[in-house]
Amino acid sequence: MKRFFLLLALFLLAATVPACGKQEQETGKPAEKIAVATTILPVADFVKNVGGEKVAVTVLVPPGASVHTYEPTPGQMSALAESRVYFMVGSGVEFELAWMKKIIENNKNLEVVDCSRGIQLIDLEASGPEGGAEDHGSKDTKILPSDKEGHKEHRGKDPHIWLSPRNARVMVENICTGLVQADPENKDYYVRNKENYLRELDQLDREIEESLKKVQKRSFLVFHPAWGYFARDYQLKQIAVEVAGKEPSAKDLAAIIDTARREGIQVVFASPQFNPQSAEVIAREIGGRVVFIDPLPENYIQNMRLVVGKF
Ligand SMILES: [Zn+2]
Repeated sequence: MKRFFLLLALFLLAATVPACGKQEQETGKPAEKIAVATTILPVADFVKNVGGEKVAVTVLVPPGASVHTYEPTPGQMSALAESRVYFMVGSGVEFELAWMKKIIENNKNLEVVDCSRGIQLIDLEASGPEGGAEDHGSKDTKILPSDKEGHKEHRGKDPHIWLSPRNARVMVENICTGLVQADPENKDYYVRNKENYLRELDQLDREIEESLKKVQKRSFLVFHPAWGYFARDYQLKQIAVEVAGKEPSAKDLAAIIDTARREGIQVVFASPQFNPQSAEVIAREIGGRVVFIDPLPENYIQNMRLVVGKF
């Protein structure tokens, strides 16, 4: 009799717990997300697009911070100790050059995926008045886990690979491979998501190509030279205001203003992560204006459309 009531109670309970517990009934347990981490917001966006509901992503460099100067908090370091996979940009961004070694020591089981695998790094362009805007002076490249397969030389290379949708494509492939390795059971799910996202990236690439074809002025002025790969892929020329990662001197400024006038440039691009003061000085001098474009967007595709609209 007792048993009957117990069964009845269970039956009633099951009948009164509606659809909200559906997923748990199907799998027998709540869906467990894989804890993963990455350095920058756009790569987190790629990871979310491939990993979907199966991943929980921690981003180390928060919105508004610069990847060249940010340091992780103790809270972030302990979140990293719980992570299974780290998706590093891999192109020599300073945060990773400074912190990857510690992050790996902090969690011996962390799988590290180098998102830059297969991407050819380009030289930081000899832009700016004196030439050689070596703004990311990478000193130590020996800490990278890709050492096993022959590490990349980062010195004097442009780390901003993600700002070209064609590079983003390669990064998304690497991310998918990393997720499948970490969670082979859900391979089909990741591959399907990846294919969908790659189609969106290809569409974006075509849109940018079409839209920039019509732009008359092929040179553009930008405070922080994050758009080298973008410029290469769409036949534009990036001119940096920053010289060797620093504010330009008065002499540098004068030379940049000369160049801008000669090229008929009206817009000075600036990033929300950097102080726009010298961009404003130049804009005033050339009778132009400062326009913000974000090199570390949370929504990659949406942001790239916005950026292209400003050219
Ligand atoms: Zn940068």
